[in-house]
Amino acid sequence: MAVAGTAPGKGAYLCLTCGKDTVLNDKKENLPPCPHCNGTTFIKIG
Ligand SMILES: [Zn+2]
Repeated sequence: MAVAGTAPGKGAYLCLTCGKDTVLNDKKENLPPCPHCNGTTFIKIG
């Protein structure tokens, strides 16, 4: 599981609350809160 505010690495993350995906393109990029529901927990899908 990945949490908003951390930098879990490059890849696609799926919001556990609403299912919207967020993509990080840099390993140093912080995962933002979900733009759709403001959720903060994600699973890595790619
Ligand atoms: Zn969401």
